[in-house]
Amino acid sequence: MKLCIIGTGYVGLVSGACFSDLGNNVICVDNNVNKIQNLQKGIIPIYEPGLEELVQKNYKAGRLNFSSNLKYAINQSNILFICVGTPNKKKSYSADLSQIYKVVKQIRKYIKKFKIIITKSTVPVTTGDILEKLISQKKSKKLFEVVSNPEFLREGEAIRDFMFPDRIVIGTDKSRVNNILKNLYEPITKRGSKYLNTSRRAAELIKYSSNAFLATKISYINEISNLCEKVGVNIEDVSIGMGLDQRIGSRFLRAGPGYGGSCFPKDTRAILNTAKKFNISLSIIKSTVLSNNQRHKILFDKICKIMNGNISKKKIAFLGVTFKPNTDDMRESPALKLIPKLHKNGAIISYYDPSGMKNNFVKYKNVNFVNKISLACKNSDLVILHTEWNEFRNLNFKKLVKKNKFVIYDMRNIYSHKKKVNRNINYYGIGR
Ligand code: NAD
Repeated sequence: MKLCIIGTGYVGLVSGACFSDLGNNVICVDNNVNKIQNLQKGIIPIYEPGLEELVQKNYKAGRLNFSSNLKYAINQSNILFICVGTPNKKKSYSADLSQIYKVVKQIRKYIKKFKIIITKSTVPVTTGDILEKLISQKKSKKLFEVVSNPEFLREGEAIRDFMFPDRIVIGTDKSRVNNILKNLYEPITKRGSKYLNTSRRAAELIKYSSNAFLATKISYINEISNLCEKVGVNIEDVSIGMGLDQRIGSRFLRAGPGYGGSCFPKDTRAILNTAKKFNISLSIIKSTVLSNNQRHKILFDKICKIMNGNISKKKIAFLGVTFKPNTDDMRESPALKLIPKLHKNGAIISYYDPSGMKNNFVKYKNVNFVNKISLACKNSDLVILHTEWNEFRNLNFKKLVKKNKFVIYDMRNIYSHKKKVNRNINYYGIGR
């Protein structure tokens, strides 16, 4: 099939690369001309395992192309995937759909033959209805169909998630369109992924409800971990015991510094905004957002406590700053709250992240990127393990830290408490 992907970010580039790998002709479009020129040279703008190889392979094979000419790309394609960003509006919980509207108005201008227009971006329920109305103001309804096909991939595991998803959700009540999309996804559903055809509004809501539910699971276990610390119970034991119940499931029950990233924070807020619009109370999701917003304060208090109330002039090694491993995405990473708070209270921070230096911290005088774990740890009084990149899993802190007295605060519980204590290391985890 001939596909046009509009918005070549995390979702757009992964979708484009994977669809082309499945044998489709794909043109990825972006209004960031620099990004497109780089992609044409084989330079990948994001860190995502396996993506570079997949892009280069399919680009060489001629199935995957990059363009900043939307008119051309639309003319060449039958199916248009909108993958632009839908962040929150500034100082508001509502989703900012300006990128979507801009693209849809361009599509409206350029379409001459029938196109399936798909929102892969996460959009609030009823957005598809609004887009349909917008296009039909200028073009006949016979020329297009607006479909919702939310994306569930996770950064860091995006290619596997795209190729082997738990489910593909297609929101349309037009059987002809559904059949075309069923064919498009057949190579994936053949391998066992479920295909769900539902209403457009349901598809839109499935995405938000799923993200809010997963975010709630994370906040829930984080709060239980607070209780564990008070009563001397290991949160890992609780997570295992809970997860063995198949009604609950073991995933997303790992206590940590709180959820971040480009989706959960903004999507939980946006669904609250939708609820408000329809005069509905989503009190559980409201609590989830509140709990996650407070998380950094709890962790900061704990840091102060383990440093005996004084972090001023203390040297802190901060290992990992992204919101999760295997991505360079800093959007709403818990580190963005923690590091400035530590800095404000006088700490001197050396951070290392395998995905490199981050512009987010340039403005802080005593927050510096170092390009080796050893350099971060060398003179530290406290090592904070913030993101569980694999390269942090087997470190010999007794060798890395040159001071006699130092503390480790493992915010992901990747180290064994028992082993660290046996080695006389002052070690703290989350909820244990
Ligand atoms: P992103 O910011 O990485 O990428 C968006 C891209 O769209 C950018 O490259 C931007 O330049 C481009 N763009 C913006 N306006 C454009 C226009 N008018 N024409 C052409 N290109 C334009 O965003 P993302 O993380 O890929 O997310 C995209 C959508 O997918 C969001 O709605 C998000 O909620 C959703 N989503 C994201 C993830 C994820 O893990 N990142 C997972 C599932 C769903």
